[in-house]
Amino acid sequence: MASAGCGKEGSPPVKGPQPEALPHYQVDTAFQLPSSPTWVRAKKRGHFVVGAKEDQPYLGEKDPATGVYSGFDIEIARMVSASLGLDPQKIVFRTIASANRETALQNGQIDYYVGTYTINANRKKLVGFAGPYYIAGQDLLVRTDENDIKGPQDLKGKRVCSAAGSTPYQRIQQDYPQADLVSYDTYSICVDNLLTYQVDAVTTDDAILIGYAAKAPDELKVVGAPFSQEPYGIGVPRPDNAFRFAIDDALEANEKNGNWKKAYDATLGLSGVPAPTPPPIDRYPAS
Ligand code: GLU
Repeated sequence: MASAGCGKEGSPPVKGPQPEALPHYQVDTAFQLPSSPTWVRAKKRGHFVVGAKEDQPYLGEKDPATGVYSGFDIEIARMVSASLGLDPQKIVFRTIASANRETALQNGQIDYYVGTYTINANRKKLVGFAGPYYIAGQDLLVRTDENDIKGPQDLKGKRVCSAAGSTPYQRIQQDYPQADLVSYDTYSICVDNLLTYQVDAVTTDDAILIGYAAKAPDELKVVGAPFSQEPYGIGVPRPDNAFRFAIDDALEANEKNGNWKKAYDATLGLSGVPAPTPPPIDRYPAS
C-alpha cells in the first residue's frame, strides 16, 4: 500500500526526509580558524549564512509553510557548520538562483553556498570551491508521452529549457546550437512550462531532474543518458583559502564517520539511487 507522502505505488516518497533518519551532527565547540575572515565574522554573528536552492526536491527544498529547508545539499551545509564549530540548527539559509551565486559570494551576502554548484575553471576565477562532495551528470526531462528525445542529439528544433547561468544551459548553447533554448531563473519554472507543453524538454543535472519526475511520475520522465560530469562543490569567497581547506577537512571527516552516507540515504537516496562512494576531495592550492 502507498502510504501518506508517497506518489503512486512503487514510486519514491516526495515529501522530503524523515527527521529521525537524518544524522545528528556533533558541534566541534573547540574549533578555531582565526586566519579565515569568513569564519571569524560568522563566529561573531553566532551562525553561518548559507546560500541554497529552495525548489529542488531531495537536494534543496524549502517548506512553504514552515520556511524550513531540507535535502542533501542542506545536510551537507549542516555537517560543515557543525565541524566548523557553529550550531547547524542556527544556519540562516538564503535562496540564491544559479545566475547569482558568484555575486552573492563576492559581496559577502552569504558565507558559503551549497546548491548543485558545479566546480569548473571559469567559476574558479570568481569563487573558491571545497569538495567535490557528489558527482551528477547533465540529463533531460521530458513528458512521458515524448518518444523522440533520447539524448541531446535529438534536440534540433525542440524547445529546451534550463536555468540562466547554469552549466547545462551553456553546454546546450555551445554544443547543440540547433536546439531552441530558453532560460528562466529556476528549473521549477522550466518544469511548469514542460507540463503545459510550452517547452519540449528541461535540461540540468540528473540528480535534480529525478526529483521533479518523482513529483509527477505520470507526466514526466528522465531520459536517463547523462552527457556530462557535474562535480558539486561548496562555493566560498575566493580569497579565503583557510576557510576552503577547513571545509575540505569537514567533508572528509563526515565522509569517514558515516554522516555523509546517512545524509544521502535520508535525502537524495529516496530517489532510489543507492549511495555512491563520495568522490575524492580536490584540495587545489591557493592562488
Ligand atoms: N550543476 C549545474 C550548475 O552548477 C546545474 C545545476 C544548477 O544550476 O545549480 O550550473
